[in-house]
Amino acid sequence: MSYVLGLKCKECGHRIPAKPLHVCEQCFGPYEVEYDYAAMKGKVTRESIAKGPKSLWRYKDLLPVATPKVGFHSGFTPLKKADRLAKELGCRNLYIKDDSCNYPTYSYKERVVSVAISKAIEFGFDTVGCASTGNLANSVAAHAAQAGLKCYVMIPHDLEQGKVLGSLIFGPTMVRIRGTYDDVNRLCTEIADKYGWAIVNVNLRPYYTEGAKTYGFEIAEQLGWQLPQHTVVPTAGGTILPKIYKAYQELIQLGLVEDNKPKIYSAQAAGCNPVVKAIHKGIDIIEPQKPNTIAKSIAIGNPADGYYVYNAVKDSGGWGESATDREIVDAIKLLAKTEGVWTEPAGGTTLAAAIKLIDQGRIPKDDTIVISITGNGLKTQEVVVDELTPPRVIEAKLTEFDQLLVENQATAVKREALTAV
Ligand SMILES: *Cc1c(COP(=O)(O)O)cnc(C)c1O
Ligand SMILES: [Zn+2]
Repeated sequence: MSYVLGLKCKECGHRIPAKPLHVCEQCFGPYEVEYDYAAMKGKVTRESIAKGPKSLWRYKDLLPVATPKVGFHSGFTPLKKADRLAKELGCRNLYIKDDSCNYPTYSYKERVVSVAISKAIEFGFDTVGCASTGNLANSVAAHAAQAGLKCYVMIPHDLEQGKVLGSLIFGPTMVRIRGTYDDVNRLCTEIADKYGWAIVNVNLRPYYTEGAKTYGFEIAEQLGWQLPQHTVVPTAGGTILPKIYKAYQELIQLGLVEDNKPKIYSAQAAGCNPVVKAIHKGIDIIEPQKPNTIAKSIAIGNPADGYYVYNAVKDSGGWGESATDREIVDAIKLLAKTEGVWTEPAGGTTLAAAIKLIDQGRIPKDDTIVISITGNGLKTQEVVVDELTPPRVIEAKLTEFDQLLVENQATAVKREALTAV
């Protein structure tokens, strides 16, 4: 049973049957999947969802896939009450939605890829690919390997080693392209046209983006079918933020949660913040930038759906903030030390932006706040390697260990004295 009616242009409303097409034939606007919500009423319920598998496919009725083909263990990641971090920030109801442990490649991208590749198989494609800042390539390569599909992943030439190896291990054809993500994306549009492959975030984009809703569905279900008052979300190409907002609105429309007017906030790196700039100016024109930041996974200077991020933020009454590379690294360390979670710079950006929004009073300290952690720090070791003191080496003798403790204590006392000045 599928509730999908077809594709509908977000701009002019033009409708077509579901096919692998992302740009409107009439106005060049983006197509989005349209559902029959009236038919879902009374059938898609909290109970029907709870009966589903413990994966993102428990929300299958709200996704554009009849029969899932991959991603049976993706999604349903922890929503973690972050009390030690909350204490640090002076708030009380703070949660992190932790996709740093998403299966199998440790980022939020498993959600969009599970849906896009299932759909690619349904459409009869034997080759999939993507334009990626790293995590998408990892996920596409892994899911394609599992499905036995041919796979081409295209990335900017200057990504972290963890992101490169994290794709190569699965055996795709990987191409590093001299240029920014925007150059990679443009090339992939031409490749999709010429070779007729399923490029998940190009010609399968209407299906791909729907997968991101599952991040929002899970937050609501894990909060006991309630929406958080504030959700802080990183923005790269602009898929996840509007889709979390859409997920919340769908649950409201189906009567599965109460409408508490949830606010959504965009987080970007200061070295690539075209959407946050637009939000601050109050003008819905996203001026492209040339990225320069350690947050490479979200370094997209000309985001495809930046306009829709702007709209969701404004419509919800939210805001946006950006974080410098220094603030990003400090936030990565803070999350690790308070919550035992190692995130990559995208997560550091989101936490750093959330801290600013809380300090500014835009997010009230006593409200429910969810911080979106979308990727894993093990893949981006470069950004912390010079930040951490390498461990000492001693002989396997208790006396040496005793000596080490004494020396550590002395250093701690000295440091305390210094900071007291
Ligand atoms: C891709 C990505 C995002 C967000 O990307 P959108 O294109 O805006 O959906 C956020 N965090 C990480 C770690 C990512 O890989
Ligand atoms: Zn149109």
